[in-house]
Amino acid sequence: MLKQRIEAWVIRDIGLTEFDNWDAVLRFATRLSIRNSIIACFMVAGILLILHAFDVLLNPLLRDLAIGCGIAMIVSFVLTMLCSLYMGYAVIHLARTRLEFRQLSRTDMLSGLLNRRAFIEDLSLVERGHLLILDIDRFKQINDRYGHLAGDDVIVSVARTLCEITGPAHLVARIGGEEFAILFRDSDFADVISIAEKLRRTIANRLVESVHQSIAVTISGGLADITPLRDFTAVYAAADQALYLAKSSGRNRIVLERDLPRTPHQPDTVRLDLGDPAFTAA
Ligand code: GH3
Ligand code: MG
Ligand code: MG
Repeated sequence: MLKQRIEAWVIRDIGLTEFDNWDAVLRFATRLSIRNSIIACFMVAGILLILHAFDVLLNPLLRDLAIGCGIAMIVSFVLTMLCSLYMGYAVIHLARTRLEFRQLSRTDMLSGLLNRRAFIEDLSLVERGHLLILDIDRFKQINDRYGHLAGDDVIVSVARTLCEITGPAHLVARIGGEEFAILFRDSDFADVISIAEKLRRTIANRLVESVHQSIAVTISGGLADITPLRDFTAVYAAADQALYLAKSSGRNRIVLERDLPRTPHQPDTVRLDLGDPAFTAA
């Protein structure tokens, strides 16, 4: 019981989130130092009172109390302050490294966009919106004709155009080799379609400049609705079906999931919940 209370007290006092800046460390160090110096003062006073009771003090009690408590308070204050500042510095460093590491683990190294894992993480938090999946057309041919490095330049250039046109309000990610995804949160459907069309048009009209060569690029896309009743798998499958149709009907176009031919088993209002027997039994 006592052990748990001490642990809870310590953990509350040194929680990493508390130490994200120097002000927080300074506040913590001052609070702890004052607390420790008061404890030290009481301990010395207690010891002096016991010694006084046994009549072993050489000086008058009040004088010893003043000197003993004063020294105990100053020494414990300074030592606690130094230790907590040192510890705070280490924790701030750790918290920043952790933040940098998280940032890196969510970023696609080639394009600088969010990576697939981070995108799925963020998408799963959204209840309403639209998911646009985009795929560069005949990218294998670009690689074969201009080389892999030129292919990388195309990916970087497409990523830049996507960010430039989509703007900071929406999430853009590279979710595969030459496949991108955009999450439109709470957006008007007409606006989303117009942005998607603008992306397609701009990329088709803009040559990518790679080493000594200009490369023409087009993209195809599939657009699906995100609703509270669908999980990532269902939304992605719908966007992917639309993308498949865009590819098979000639490429360089955006197809809306709403325009897909309906099949009875299309999972548009079904949440995939494999743990629920009601779903597996169906
Ligand atoms: P489609 O129009 O049907 O999408 O055809 P595609 O050629 O774009 O599609 P496919 O899936 O056949 O080829 C994709 C190619 O993308 C194959 C792979 O070598 C290449 N690729 C994947 N990741 C990268 C990358 O990071 N850099 C480069 N340069 N190429 C990549
Ligand atoms: Mg492709
Ligand atoms: Mg592809």
